[in-house]
Amino acid sequence: MSRGIYERNPNSTVPDYLMTIEQERAQSDALFSSIGEGAVATDEDGRISRINNIALDLLGYTREEVMGKWYPKIFRIIDENGKPIDSLERHITKAMLTGKPASGRTYYLTKTDEKLPVFVTFSPIMLEGKPVGAIGVFRDIKQELKIDRMKTEFISIASHQLRTPLSAIKIYSHMLAQGFAGKLTDDQAKFLDIIVSSISRMNETIDTLLDVSRIEAGKMGVEPKKIVLDVFIDDIVAGIKPLANEKKIDMTTDMQCNKVSVITDPVLIKEVLTNLVSNAIKYTPEGGEVHITLKDSVDSYVIGVADNGYGIPANVQRHLFTKFFRANNIIDKEPSGTGLGLYMIKRIAEQIGGKVWFASEEGKGSTFYFSLPKKHKAAK
Ligand code: ADP
Repeated sequence: MSRGIYERNPNSTVPDYLMTIEQERAQSDALFSSIGEGAVATDEDGRISRINNIALDLLGYTREEVMGKWYPKIFRIIDENGKPIDSLERHITKAMLTGKPASGRTYYLTKTDEKLPVFVTFSPIMLEGKPVGAIGVFRDIKQELKIDRMKTEFISIASHQLRTPLSAIKIYSHMLAQGFAGKLTDDQAKFLDIIVSSISRMNETIDTLLDVSRIEAGKMGVEPKKIVLDVFIDDIVAGIKPLANEKKIDMTTDMQCNKVSVITDPVLIKEVLTNLVSNAIKYTPEGGEVHITLKDSVDSYVIGVADNGYGIPANVQRHLFTKFFRANNIIDKEPSGTGLGLYMIKRIAEQIGGKVWFASEEGKGSTFYFSLPKKHKAAK
């Protein structure tokens, strides 16, 4: 008579609370096939040892066609433009080399050579400290990408449509403020002041939205020029100082490099710095501190923007730099914001070969870093 997998073998010497190898195997088989996404496991030589039906369906193979095959032969990956990706760049390689999970977006080529966008996570299977295989889970993100594209298109159209009437509102309110339509009473002048400053906030938001749609459409050009970095930063900080003064925030700088010339795109760097410094001011309560630094770090210059403000909760830190993300601890305190600034900074960093990262503790403050490569440093 056959036994169910969870039924105990009466002759077993294994204690009740331990599972037999068969039970464990059956359980992990069931677990593997019930994962709601594509799942694949490899042995230490990179041969496919398990695969679930979702993975087979997504790639268009039968089980017989893939079992025991070398993983990269079946899971062929390419970049957005269809070029094959170096095997060192594969998530499975990263997971095996570092012993840690690696994840991100990529494209698989199906059996019929169709491009399948996926989000994949690979984890190494560790035995006595050594990787002896890997498990990967991936999901089809075609629909997500489509929605993303539609959102970008919507933003682009909406912001273009808003910009034209807003320009007229801006011009005419400035004319009113300057008395072109007659002298204003004190109250009228006061109200108009509020209108004018709200218009400029709205303009900034529209500019951000347009910048984002340009970036998404791959239309962000880099126009390198020579700038003296420390002086450039000082100028930008001076421009934002009134914002800090309004909140009685003590804003200080420490430029540890003097008169350093770099060749970079000043417009993009200004965008990065303005965003980081205004965020530091915005997310720090009245009377707080913001400190801006510039340091030389071998092949790059690192700009740091530190504050002792609200900080970012640990459980949402991984979402920072994603489009439209705003942390829950600041929504009530600072309702206005698009959640696009950091996303843009990240894209700018990628464009100019720099990096952006941060350290933060909720209730204590945050420090954002931006590194600017020296590669284009003026030869002189
Ligand atoms: P926005 O400021 O318009 O919301 P950003 O993309 O600039 O958009 O920032 C995204 C989110 O990151 C913010 O909403 C906030 O939750 C968090 N954040 C950014 N900078 C800071 C900071 N210096 N201190 C605390 N939280 C920050």
